[in-house]
Amino acid sequence: MSLVVQKYGGTSVQTLAHIENVARRIIRTRKKGIAVVAVVSAMGHETDRLDELAKQLDVSGAHMGREIDVLLSTGEQVTTALLAMTLMKLGCPAKSYTGGQVRILTDAAHTKARISEINTERLLAEIGNDCVPVVAGFQGVDENQNITTLGRGGSDTTAVALAAVLEADECQIYTDVTGVFTTDPRMVESARCLDVLTFEEMLELASLGSRVLHTRAVEFASKYKIPIRVLSSFEDCDGTLITNEEDLAMEQPVISGIAFMRDEAKVTVLGVKDIPGIASKILGPISEANIEVDMIVQNIAADQSTDFTFTVSRQDYAQAMQILNAIALKIGAREVRGDNEIAKLSLVGVGMRSHAGVAAKMFEILSAESINIQMISTSEIKISVVIAEKYLELAVKTLHTGFDLDQTG
Ligand code: ASP
Ligand code: MG
Repeated sequence: MSLVVQKYGGTSVQTLAHIENVARRIIRTRKKGIAVVAVVSAMGHETDRLDELAKQLDVSGAHMGREIDVLLSTGEQVTTALLAMTLMKLGCPAKSYTGGQVRILTDAAHTKARISEINTERLLAEIGNDCVPVVAGFQGVDENQNITTLGRGGSDTTAVALAAVLEADECQIYTDVTGVFTTDPRMVESARCLDVLTFEEMLELASLGSRVLHTRAVEFASKYKIPIRVLSSFEDCDGTLITNEEDLAMEQPVISGIAFMRDEAKVTVLGVKDIPGIASKILGPISEANIEVDMIVQNIAADQSTDFTFTVSRQDYAQAMQILNAIALKIGAREVRGDNEIAKLSLVGVGMRSHAGVAAKMFEILSAESINIQMISTSEIKISVVIAEKYLELAVKTLHTGFDLDQTG
């Protein structure tokens, strides 16, 4: 018999009417002879609400993580009971489970715990009894039975982990969009819903801000080779299948999507000496301040001195400038310059591996629009550029058209 794990996100369970819609979907799947394990998020913005309550208390300290997790995990528990009751009302056997009841074991890192082990015994027994287990996403327990949570958005990870241990055929992530798009449809009207995508591409798109899936869930699925399907609980459509490259029969398009990030900033240390140790003298204090560095460019030295540029997120810009100004004095650099009105955009596609000239075409398209490229970085399946933020929308739109990503018809 086939088995799928179906995960329903917050917007899909925001009211009782939505929960009933979810229950009917589960029942329809079962009518096709497919067993279902459901994983649910908290209703609507419940987790935000709980988080806000904790913030109002304004407490912090080492012991608070445990209590925050007890608080945040309640949202999912509410949904499991409501969905199980709705299923039963509609004549489908169902039973709610907290993470601890399943025994989803995690480490003890409160609010960002990692799953270490899952006991499948009870879930398999329920499936064997033709019953739908409705499991609370986002939560587990540590060795000492303390409730833990997996980090915001963590229900996706619960679902994929369950699909892996239960050897499900597919992990279906139901959300409020019809799938993963070629780029953000709020910016580009002609953005298209993708039929398929590889795990690698999804990881690039996810880490670049297409916030469809929890990054850890994609890593997990890739490691255990669990196909994920992102689809809408509001419409009937096939969604986007994310799987291994080997499992994709058709040749992949050269470019699958365009990801972008606003809120970037660029800092340059000018006139640094071309001697060993300079890069670490510049970046050491930046990382000590917990500032994450993204792209790094250092030019070849002319006259024994060079320029060193890197990007950080815009919220870290002021602090980064401050640190660098102090370092510049120490290492005898000429000047520190910054620009916090930049954005990064990336073309992503496994097809790039076998197609030369993607970068050249990208640069040509940008130059035709007189958009200046400030930094470039490439990897096997990605080309990223930094440009002025004011040109971001124009750049994304023209590249989207130039690489044939627009919706047709
Ligand atoms: N309810 C949690 C959150 O809002 C977990 C999830 O929905 O994935 O982050
Ligand atoms: Mg989510």
